Amino acid sequence: MNHDCDFCIIGAGTAGLTAATLAARKGYKVTILEKGNIAGPLPRGESMAYYPLVDEILGEGFLQDIATVKPSYRRYHSPGDKKTTLVNVHVPYYFFEWREFIDRFVQSASEAGVEIRYNCEVQSALMNEMEICTGVSYTDESGKDQKIQARVVLACDGYYSTIGSSLGVDYSKINCPIVKFRGKNANIDIQKTPNPQFWLIPNGDLEYAPLFPPCAAYVFPIGGNNIEAGVMLRMGQVPKIKSAELPSDEVIMQVWRRLKEEYPGFSEVFKEIEVEYEALTGMPNASLVESFVLGNGGVVIIGDAAGFVDANGSSGLYYGMKMAEEWVNILDIFLKKNGVWNVVASRNLENQFRNTKIFKHIKKSYSLIGISEAFLFRLLATGKAINRWWWLFSIMIKSAS
Ligand SMILES: Cc1cc2nc3c(=O)[nH]c(=O)nc-3n(C[C@H](O)[C@H](O)[C@H](O)COP(=O)(O)OP(=O)(O)OC[C@H]3O[C@@H](n4cnc5c(N)ncnc54)[C@H](O)[C@@H]3O)c2cc1C
Repeated sequence: MNHDCDFCIIGAGTAGLTAATLAARKGYKVTILEKGNIAGPLPRGESMAYYPLVDEILGEGFLQDIATVKPSYRRYHSPGDKKTTLVNVHVPYYFFEWREFIDRFVQSASEAGVEIRYNCEVQSALMNEMEICTGVSYTDESGKDQKIQARVVLACDGYYSTIGSSLGVDYSKINCPIVKFRGKNANIDIQKTPNPQFWLIPNGDLEYAPLFPPCAAYVFPIGGNNIEAGVMLRMGQVPKIKSAELPSDEVIMQVWRRLKEEYPGFSEVFKEIEVEYEALTGMPNASLVESFVLGNGGVVIIGDAAGFVDANGSSGLYYGMKMAEEWVNILDIFLKKNGVWNVVASRNLENQFRNTKIFKHIKKSYSLIGISEAFLFRLLATGKAINRWWWLFSIMIKSAS
């Protein structure tokens, strides 16, 4: 069969651009299809720890150079801001601006010879032969339907993946709604409070939204008086909590506005704030997908599309990149040896990935978060009980970090 490219990658986010750069550096012909008119059109996470892979993709010292704030502690606030705990995470977290970060990924991909086609939205229908995926169809920038054939398709299309959904992944079990906010002129003294802060709010604690799921409101200092902030609904335990349900988008935004106005401790930060960006989005944090090779093979899901984040810190940037690296390495060896997919190959490749350290780490992060959230939001359940047992939660969270 004639292929248009070796790797067709769907989505120019951090996972897709990493996979593309590494595959192109190995000599493969790589095409990315991105639905936006730029890479990573909507801002996602703007902080991460350093790992050698970051230098490999972005260049030595790039992450450190673009970050002005580099804290290695996190502060957790109990319900009602009655108690706080400072946790040493032992490595600095670098905070940066999304556009500066993502543009550098694009530069690296372009230097490696990757072709990026913007305004190209992949449709759910996959091309296949003998039930193995051989390419995708997409709508190009002029609205025309197009097809592209590839030896491998990597679905790096984010937290609500078109490909994942079309092949049966139920993202309502994987994702958590999250409001992302960026603001200037926050009421924050970065010298005194340079650390990311989290306010844990159990279900039932907000009298104006009694069915609202447990959530964590957060403030990240970006530099100067600029902050990233938001609220993430913690959906992992919700199916087991009778009094919680997934709220509508409108209710989530109403709760978000009230948290900014009146939640103890949290609202202080927003007194004179100048809003730069505010949107409801989602990210995985409730569970991993069941398998990474979809259908009978030919297509692998990577990054947020696979639920591949460290659930303890909601960190997906590095883990999506690392997952991309592992899969490119696995597929490189496989393609050189075999050339084509078959059902048995799919199972072997999936098993190889499940044996990597990074997969085991992510799996463990979901187990740990499951235990600590069950303890907090189901066993203790109320703000009063959580405050009483905060000392025990503090020990748990310190020993897990
Ligand atoms: C508010 C928020 C804060 C976060 N904070 C942090 C943090 O501080 N640290 C951290 O490590 N992680 C954080 N994360 C998680 C992290 O941002 C994500 O895990 C990471 O960006 C996932 O990368 P990705 O490439 O898998 O997906 P994405 O970055 O979502 O990229 C997917 C790409 O696919 C494109 N696409 C989607 N559908 C199609 C289609 N049908 N056809 C073509 N293209 C398509 C999209 O336009 C996008 O460019 C945060 C996430 C959010 C939402």
